[in-house]
Amino acid sequence: MEKIPFIDLKRNYEVYKKEIEKEILEVFRSGIYLNGPQTQKLENLLANYLGISYAVGVSSGTEALFLILKALDLPKNTYVLVPSFTFVATAEVIVRVGLIPYFVDVEEGTYNISLESFKESYEKLKKKRKKVSAVIAVSLFGLPAHLKEIKKFCEEKGIYLIEDICQAFGAKIGNKKVGTFGIASATSFYPTKPLSTFGDAGMVFTSHKNLAKKVRILKEHGQIKPYFYKYHGVNGRIDEIHSAILLVKFKYFEKEIALRKAIVERYMGNLKDLVPYVKLPQFPKNYFSSYSLFTIRAKNRDKLKAFLESKGIMTGVYYRKPLHLQPVYKDLNFKNGDLPITERLAKEVLSLPLHPYLTEKEIDYVILSIKEFYKK
Ligand SMILES: *Cc1c(COP(=O)(O)O)cnc(C)c1O
Repeated sequence: MEKIPFIDLKRNYEVYKKEIEKEILEVFRSGIYLNGPQTQKLENLLANYLGISYAVGVSSGTEALFLILKALDLPKNTYVLVPSFTFVATAEVIVRVGLIPYFVDVEEGTYNISLESFKESYEKLKKKRKKVSAVIAVSLFGLPAHLKEIKKFCEEKGIYLIEDICQAFGAKIGNKKVGTFGIASATSFYPTKPLSTFGDAGMVFTSHKNLAKKVRILKEHGQIKPYFYKYHGVNGRIDEIHSAILLVKFKYFEKEIALRKAIVERYMGNLKDLVPYVKLPQFPKNYFSSYSLFTIRAKNRDKLKAFLESKGIMTGVYYRKPLHLQPVYKDLNFKNGDLPITERLAKEVLSLPLHPYLTEKEIDYVILSIKEFYKK
């Protein structure tokens, strides 16, 4: 068996190569490289797909999150609730706008925000007379967080719900797409995300006209008319080449989600014999994942990872060290034991190879190798 990469970006490129190269050439020849027709077309298409009024193309998922927070202009030094079990970008943007992250725990079955920990954290801060301004709910690994329940609580308490859908573009609860539950949402088109380009890009979605307008201004240095600046902005644009690539990739997006789903189902069906050595993720009823990563919990995780690597199978660990225990957040005074589920997951999670064009033969080789490891 040939080596099995964790995510085979080259194989994915080969599938769409002809079409993508043609579109890139057209952008090169058009003379328009920023703020042009490709970006406008992409924004309209994706807003429509999500079922939301406004989309603003930006330079990355991180910048999308930052621009939402910046545009909301929340009171300085207030708190933003955020899961500890996520990519660092979700929390780093909070600090960047002068707010304070407050880490909450997740559920072990879905890896997403625990409603209990979320509500408890809010009450705990309130008791200490600390103001909570927002929560950033992450739909991790493609699976929607409990967005309906989180939204309800936010409405009761008068705090903003911001969605980080960087790993979950295309996912939905019932017929409602993630990215449409909060005041605004941020997605990423980083190469390994479900809808991806060959570099950095992202998008902000919102149903609020003024918020969309402000994000658009902020990503152009805060400029409201030529060389007239109202806000402290950034250079946060998407470019025409990435937009053109994404327009091609989007044509095949739903098909790719279906391919990912079939792969995950094959893994799930075969790995269930390995319980309790291996624990499988849960997909709540009516929650439709975009399957960006397939993450199991494994006994002797690091040994299993090394064993699979010796067989040419590359895996990933998302995330090995929870954010609340990272040196950069030590001033927030979280300690070991504060978020027990997050801390346990960090020791157990293993993401298996997953990309739309993984073959059945490759999947079965991964499954067989995991079985071989636990037989010893
Ligand atoms: C990838 C990712 C981001 C950041 O997106 P970039 O485009 O890499 O800046 C933010 N949050 C989560 C959960 C992510 O997975």
